[in-house]
Amino acid sequence: MESLWSDRDAKGLAGVDLVVYTSRIIGTNPNLVLWGGGNSSIKVDGRDHTGTPVRILWIKGSGSDMRTIAAKNFTPLRLDDLLPLMKREAMTDEEMVAYQMKSVLEPGAPKPSIETLLHAFLPSPHIYHTHADAICALTDTPNSPKVVEEVYGKDVAVVDYIRPGFLLSKWVGEAYQKNPNLKAIILDKHGLITWGDTAKEAYELTISMVTKAEKYAAKKGRGKLALGGLKAPALSHAERHAVAAEVAPTLRGEVSRKKRMVLQYEDAPAVLKFAGSEEAKRLTQIGPFTPDHLMHTKPWPLFVDTKKPDDPIRLREKIRRGAEAYREKYIAYFEKYKTPGVTMLDPNPRVVLIPGIGMFTTGKDRRATRIPRDLYLHTMSVIQAAAGIEAYRSITTREICDFEYWPMENFKLTLLPPEKEFSRRIVLVTGAAGGIGRAIATAFVEAGAMVVLTDIDLKKTQALVDEINQKAGEVNATAVAMDVTDEKSVRRGFEQAVLAYGGLDIFISNAGIAKTAPVDKLSLSDWEVSLAVNATGHFLTSQSALRIMKDQGIGGSVVVVATKNVLAPGKDFGAYSASKAAQAQLARIMAIENAGAGIRVNMVNPDGVFENSGLWSPAIREERARAHGIPVEQVEDFYAKRNLLQMKITARDVAESVLFLASDRAAKTTGAMIPVDGGVREAFPR
Ligand SMILES: [Zn+2]
Repeated sequence: MESLWSDRDAKGLAGVDLVVYTSRIIGTNPNLVLWGGGNSSIKVDGRDHTGTPVRILWIKGSGSDMRTIAAKNFTPLRLDDLLPLMKREAMTDEEMVAYQMKSVLEPGAPKPSIETLLHAFLPSPHIYHTHADAICALTDTPNSPKVVEEVYGKDVAVVDYIRPGFLLSKWVGEAYQKNPNLKAIILDKHGLITWGDTAKEAYELTISMVTKAEKYAAKKGRGKLALGGLKAPALSHAERHAVAAEVAPTLRGEVSRKKRMVLQYEDAPAVLKFAGSEEAKRLTQIGPFTPDHLMHTKPWPLFVDTKKPDDPIRLREKIRRGAEAYREKYIAYFEKYKTPGVTMLDPNPRVVLIPGIGMFTTGKDRRATRIPRDLYLHTMSVIQAAAGIEAYRSITTREICDFEYWPMENFKLTLLPPEKEFSRRIVLVTGAAGGIGRAIATAFVEAGAMVVLTDIDLKKTQALVDEINQKAGEVNATAVAMDVTDEKSVRRGFEQAVLAYGGLDIFISNAGIAKTAPVDKLSLSDWEVSLAVNATGHFLTSQSALRIMKDQGIGGSVVVVATKNVLAPGKDFGAYSASKAAQAQLARIMAIENAGAGIRVNMVNPDGVFENSGLWSPAIREERARAHGIPVEQVEDFYAKRNLLQMKITARDVAESVLFLASDRAAKTTGAMIPVDGGVREAFPR
């Protein structure tokens, strides 16, 4: 493992700033810690609020991430308050946390790490704790103390597994007192603790120990088939993507029984190799490589045992049965090992492995699916390394349950911001590059949804997606090229959409086109293209959307962007109004046909939305000005003046109604039409 230490970058840094620097170079290395794992501390001389000199332990606050940590994420504690606790026999977590809080020197500082005492009981000024893959691979074996001694000699002690808390800290303190020549301590089935007189010394020790462990595992594993032979070779890229898209909605429906989940598909070569191996099924059911992952990965992944991954129909059945069996196993595990009075968490898997196809992970949004994905990518390599050393072992099932339901760990969940209205929802918008589509897509992302933006103009859509994702700092939107009039393009587009987030909850049929001419002058091609986009396009896309929703079996919502013209047609708008009327009538039929599946279908009828509109081309504006006998620059005002409220209609106004109809607030509304036209008497729905 390469050291990232830079004397130049660390120059001039001292105290907490130096720990921030070191924690960050540890945090940026996913082979050391992932997603909030690990912690760090420094002991310094300082003063308390009365100005009295005190020895201070600055420790990482609970729930912060080493990769992005800042000085404000550290908490100062009075060390002399903590040290006498070594003499105690026991302390409950609650007692320990309360005592730690009493020793905090700064009001408002974050809650100190649950491993605070462990840092206090080791005398060294600089201490780093990581869940390094290579170190865990050494201890995730049946005879871990022997393996550790073989690698490091007697300078490194192994402390037996126990859930973090007072006793673990005491055991660590005792191990050090027994042998003050110790260089480091390894926590069995958990991670590594290194220390030093300087931050650099402690950091470099972490790196050199990990390097040694990596070399040892490589040597031990050489020439061995640690995962057994290859049982299920990967399907070709195109084939596995097609199958993944076909089965994802079924899987999503299964894992969304308690709460809707977004999926992430991953088919890196290492995943395909692992999932397809002889031993994968057995090895994946053993447990996590460090208990720190349990909150995100659950005790085990769902392994879909299939011999024919290329047969989507059989694979769907395997997924259904596999998910059912997973839930049964999870409930039995919970019932057997639970502490009385504890409520069961969602019994569905967060990681799903399918030989030949790859891996799916689940979460409330894209960020949340990336966590189990990253954790399991590392788990697969630790399992392989441990199996190569001797055999893969985890903590016991009772210990797994104790950790998964540990209130101190679940406390971190309370630090997360509350979920937004459209969290866990996947939305697809057609015609997303235009003014209304853009407003709808943006509003959904702001409300927490994952959004697939489709349009015939991919470049414009991609630019909008980049803008949205940059603002969110996350891939919450995906651009897909789609020509709604082309069956193949629609099918491919929906396939890509499903691969992006795993399924579909909300479909917004928004793509449209306007051609104007009186019927006696209307060209056949203008008539045909109007029907193709506004009627057939709506039919084709709705068909794909409904199929996905039905495969999921968790309901859904369709919102059709129709027009005021459906109820109050205007002259020269024959092609537009007739094709939009077909769209509206089809929407009503869809509402009737799909209510049984919990799928609602509603419409919004906007009138004259001009901003960024593809519909209101200069030619249309001129034509409408002529039709109404007004100068072209007055068209927008004309439209505003003719409604009862005398207001201009914006794309955001349309988006508001679309979001309402798509939301649970409209749970009991289907087959309805909401005008967004400022009030046009002849267009009142009746
Ligand atoms: Zn830890």
